[in-house]
Amino acid sequence: MKQKLFVLSMDAMVHEDVAYMMTKPNFRKIMEKRAEVEKVLSVFPAITYPAHTTMMTGCYPGKHGIYNNVPFKDYDDKKKHWYLDSKVIRVEDIFAAAKRAGCTTASVYWPITGNNPNVDYIINEYFFFYRDESPEQAFTKMGADEVAMKAVRDNYEFLPPRVHPEGKSKLGFDPFIMACTCSLIRDAKPDVLLVHNCALDSARHTDGVFGKSVFEALDRTDAWLGDVLAAMTDAGTYEDTNFVILSDHGQMDYEKRIRPNVLLAKGGFLDVAPDGTVYDWQAFAQNNAMSASVYLRDPNNKKLYDKVYAYLQKLVDEKKWGLTKVYTTEEAKEKYGTYGPFSFMLATDGKTSVSEAWTEDAIEILGADEQKPLCGTHGYEPELGPQPVFLAHGPAFKHGAVLENAKLVDIAPTLAAVLGETMPEADGRVLTELLK
Ligand SMILES: [Zn+2]
Repeated sequence: MKQKLFVLSMDAMVHEDVAYMMTKPNFRKIMEKRAEVEKVLSVFPAITYPAHTTMMTGCYPGKHGIYNNVPFKDYDDKKKHWYLDSKVIRVEDIFAAAKRAGCTTASVYWPITGNNPNVDYIINEYFFFYRDESPEQAFTKMGADEVAMKAVRDNYEFLPPRVHPEGKSKLGFDPFIMACTCSLIRDAKPDVLLVHNCALDSARHTDGVFGKSVFEALDRTDAWLGDVLAAMTDAGTYEDTNFVILSDHGQMDYEKRIRPNVLLAKGGFLDVAPDGTVYDWQAFAQNNAMSASVYLRDPNNKKLYDKVYAYLQKLVDEKKWGLTKVYTTEEAKEKYGTYGPFSFMLATDGKTSVSEAWTEDAIEILGADEQKPLCGTHGYEPELGPQPVFLAHGPAFKHGAVLENAKLVDIAPTLAAVLGETMPEADGRVLTELLK
């Protein structure tokens, strides 16, 4: 039988979780003789969509074109506009390489795979904030065919009741994601299957990086791995499957929240109308969770550029905002391969979360009372904090091979090598040390 590739992204899983997971039966069964990168360097900003796009393309954010979870907007319509359709990605992805290798392909909740022409069975992301469409409409619009829709319909009971009358999940969308994954394994036996699960990321956001609910989410992860193993056993594919568990970024606990747009308004670069809407702006900060990208109305206006640069430098020098560095786009490109239509990136100390709001106070100290417990988030420079993982087991991987460090851009070329393919556009390298 042809070797298969199963990739599970446990969003925000970190190296420190592995020891706990090794006490769990299903994880231990799969990963006891693993090949591993202990610490994988994420991208800047270390945030979900740029990181997942890097994991599937092997390219840095400037090149693949996704440098935030959402496109830039300078208004607040109370809606989330997360990237969904794959056409926004500028380079080739692992699914294209899989097709060259003659593989059947599938994706479940992997970011930005909507209508990807190289994915045979697509179940794209659908969350609470897309509720103006039914799940059926949303999945179909983003490319689900009859096989994928059967998996969706067979598992409505695992959706939250808020989005479907049959739904019973009290744990968000992750039980549905994993149930659909198992259905696809049994019904379609795809050669390449990429899955994205948010349970750990959600737990860290609400309860801190190593809060109690994180361990509950790790326990659930092991139960889901048991379900996947059972599905592969039913499909007769387990022995021939290369099993990869990886993650996109870590998280760090934050103590304060800053609002750079309030500071830009104080500096005279952003005008707020009496009704609280933005009247006009010369500089506007897009929130990357623990960093920000600063856009200029006219990036070619040298006078404006110099004034904003000097103002942002002054904020860093004041040392009270949690800001540690102003990157020019050229510096961010040189160090992290990150560039785009913005002119600057603001880095924080890893204890400061950023809000895009332009009203309220410029800074808010959190964690001082029980109403505002410590929470985790990401989006900082990738060297900071607990690091994401790459764990693999299967016929293509060397038992016990360990690399201390590698980069997120190395993942796609390595997965392509497992399929006997290359990724010519990738910035990363094949991690040959892990492969047989
Ligand atoms: Zn993430």
